[in-house]
Amino acid sequence: MTNQYDFENQTVVVTGGSNGIGRATAIMMAKAGAHVFVGDINHLEENKETFTQLGIVEVTCDVRRESQVQALIERAVDQYGTINILVNNAGIGLVKQIQDVTEAEWDACVDTNLKGTFFGCKHAIKYMLATGGGSIVNTASNAGLLPRAHDPVYSISKHAIVALTESLGLCHGKDNIRINCVCPGPVGETGMMNDDLDKADDRAGLTQSMIRASPIAAAHNRMIQPEEVASAICYLASKDALMVSGTALRIDGGKSLGVPPQG
Ligand code: NAD
Repeated sequence: MTNQYDFENQTVVVTGGSNGIGRATAIMMAKAGAHVFVGDINHLEENKETFTQLGIVEVTCDVRRESQVQALIERAVDQYGTINILVNNAGIGLVKQIQDVTEAEWDACVDTNLKGTFFGCKHAIKYMLATGGGSIVNTASNAGLLPRAHDPVYSISKHAIVALTESLGLCHGKDNIRINCVCPGPVGETGMMNDDLDKADDRAGLTQSMIRASPIAAAHNRMIQPEEVASAICYLASKDALMVSGTALRIDGGKSLGVPPQG
């Protein structure tokens, strides 16, 4: 993938940046010149060599805890004076019918996906207001645009992220703060996808059915890759998207458009 963006001297925080889409985003932005701070609770040791080479700082941060999100953002601000870009990307799935969801599972899913995004926005916007603006990109999902039968609580959390993105986009345009989100379809080579595939009786069959559900993915006979979502996040975060705010950008190979014509 080409690295067409210029993030020279931009200070960036990526939550859930130690794996999958977040990791690809952190690496892409660091290669484009950004000072990148990653917050995560897993995979922290796995990236040491690559992240050190790229100057990416990895911090233990559970996005369900406000004090830890605040500390992550303050770490970036303390070192570079501001935060220019925040990518609220940490997320977990919950494949369960509503009658089987426990309160603890609801809390884990909604707190990670939604409350973590709220904490990130809250603390980044404080600094962005003080320093003339910034850009926030939230990782929502196709599940934030359409209802989903197999993981309703996940879908609820992602719909709320789209709503939060639109509301904050409306509130903070006047402050030169842009807030957007990406809505990926099924992305391969991620922890979340591997967890789902590992639980499937027919891994190859499930993979193929997800590829077939996305017209462009089907045309290329492969899943969407983390770097393809990272590239869209970079676009939304970059000055190329200066007039884009409050949008929910689908990166799903056309999956959410409906049933394609047959034949
Ligand atoms: P992933 O599991 O590879 O990455 C998610 C990262 O978030 C992991 O590094 C994980 O450790 C981290 N994380 C989880 N809980 C956390 C917490 N409480 N605090 C901090 N970090 C935490 O999966 P991914 O697919 O790269 O997921 C990234 C985002 O993309 C998620 O928000 C997910 O909902 C979204 N998404 C994924 C897909 C997909 O098909 N993989 C599709 C649409 C949206």
